[in-house]
Amino acid sequence: MRGLMMDTPLLISSIIDHGATVYADREIVSQTVEGPIHRYTYAHARARSKQLANALASLGVHAGDRIATIAWNGHRHFEIYYAVSGMGAICHTLNPRLHPVQLDYIVNHAEDSYIFTDLTFVPLLEAIADKLTSVQGVVVMTDRANMPDTSLSNALCYEELIDNHSDEFAWPQFDENTASSLCYTSGTTGNPKGVLYSHRSTVLHSYGLALPDSMQLGEGHCVLPIVPMFHANAWGIPYAAPMTGVKLVMPGPRLDGASLTRLMTDEDVTMTAGVPSVFLGLLNHLEETNTRVPSLERVVIGGAAASQSMITAFEQKLGVEVRHAWGMTEMSPLGTVSVLKPDMRDAPEADRYEVQGKQGRPVFGVEMKIVDDDAKLLPHDGKAFGDLSVRGPWVCSGYYRMDHSPAHDADGWFATGDVATIDESWYMQITDRKKDLIKSGGEWISSVELENLASGHPEIAQAAVIAVPHEKWDERPLLIAVPKENASPTKETIQEYLAGLVPKWWVPDDVVFVDSLPLGATGKVLKTKLREQYASPHSGTPPKE
Ligand code: ADP
Repeated sequence: MRGLMMDTPLLISSIIDHGATVYADREIVSQTVEGPIHRYTYAHARARSKQLANALASLGVHAGDRIATIAWNGHRHFEIYYAVSGMGAICHTLNPRLHPVQLDYIVNHAEDSYIFTDLTFVPLLEAIADKLTSVQGVVVMTDRANMPDTSLSNALCYEELIDNHSDEFAWPQFDENTASSLCYTSGTTGNPKGVLYSHRSTVLHSYGLALPDSMQLGEGHCVLPIVPMFHANAWGIPYAAPMTGVKLVMPGPRLDGASLTRLMTDEDVTMTAGVPSVFLGLLNHLEETNTRVPSLERVVIGGAAASQSMITAFEQKLGVEVRHAWGMTEMSPLGTVSVLKPDMRDAPEADRYEVQGKQGRPVFGVEMKIVDDDAKLLPHDGKAFGDLSVRGPWVCSGYYRMDHSPAHDADGWFATGDVATIDESWYMQITDRKKDLIKSGGEWISSVELENLASGHPEIAQAAVIAVPHEKWDERPLLIAVPKENASPTKETIQEYLAGLVPKWWVPDDVVFVDSLPLGATGKVLKTKLREQYASPHSGTPPKE
């Protein structure tokens, strides 16, 4: 028997309609690329989204067309998210930090018909323009006064484009499983793969994000997503914001510690979210200037493991709660969040931080399991580690224009490529990316755990551990570390420090000190680059006995 409830489709346009009516005066504040701070309301944002939807229709854009963006977090990017998906087209976010070769591959693979670009990325598009086979025009996200001289053949000005269009636009109603947006994985191995989100997955994911033990969003909060809108849709925050009425603060291109501190302080930001490498910059700035952001209550750290030292720096020095989260582009991206269970809140400090160092428990909507090489389920004892698989309504069921995905199995599980433990209370902990695990003498060493411990050393700012080939043991760990300013740690002191924390055979045979670690397109340490540099037979760092 079917239930007698309305079959209202879950559409992205309904989110902005809700924000623009129920939270009409709630603000969106943006640091623009041009310089000034821009400020308006959800009601105004919807009006301009509708103007843009009319403009796109006048350009001949139809439902299902792919419209790309290459832009920072800002108000125009927000409008594009809603206009494009709202009219039934597909909003394809391009990551400007990708190699140009990957960018033109992605645009051609998606067959994007228009690209919206911030001023920053006009030169980047000019450089690849002659390789783009499907693009009919580029819209520069600025006003006439700031339009650049450009060699792009069909460059339009955003403000002019929408200017003469009405802000009346009836969002079409359609099946909630219709594609809404597209984001390619960064493709560290092989070509990038397209993850094609639907209206339904996006709306459900927004509910998941808003839950109390997830990102806990609501009208009382002011959120600054540091995580870019070109990286897994800023983890879905631009969708969950008008749904919940949070004040939204967009940092634009200014992601350095000083700029973030200023913007967060000026706008009374209560929560922010991003990858560890940007928080490193923020923490350094706060420490150097001996400042804090008085309004800041919570940070969500994900995308790569948050080290214990980062968690304690936020909590002890700044009084800011850390929520460690894990996910993937393929998961929209929310998977797990680490929030202490009520009976853990009074536990000894070390125990609490251990739990917060884990990646957390699944948010409703995400099923997960760990299995061994024979696909046998592993116990939840916090020790057994295996391949982590997930499934749920906001996990991708395949990749865009790819016939077969080796990561998906017949029962609908998606193999994440991460290796993890799950404990009795369902806290999941990533021990490694499968390809980053180190196999020494037939036993596994977790590079993530070594990195976490090494960055707890008082003289180490950042650490990465990779496997180097070894004749006898197959692989041995190599630690590559960035010393803190004015510190001069030695290989021996670091090895001694680690020997007190891990089994003897885990201690890296060598420690290389560097000024900085290479970061990839999503702000994470590029281990492929480190392996090329330090672990290849030609790297000049011979494995040691
Ligand atoms: P995102 O960075 O938005 O989570 P990506 O698709 O770029 O999404 O990367 C996903 C991968 O990043 C995961 O499979 C995992 O290896 C790693 N990752 C994400 N969050 C964490 C975390 N909190 N700790 C450790 N690794 C993480």
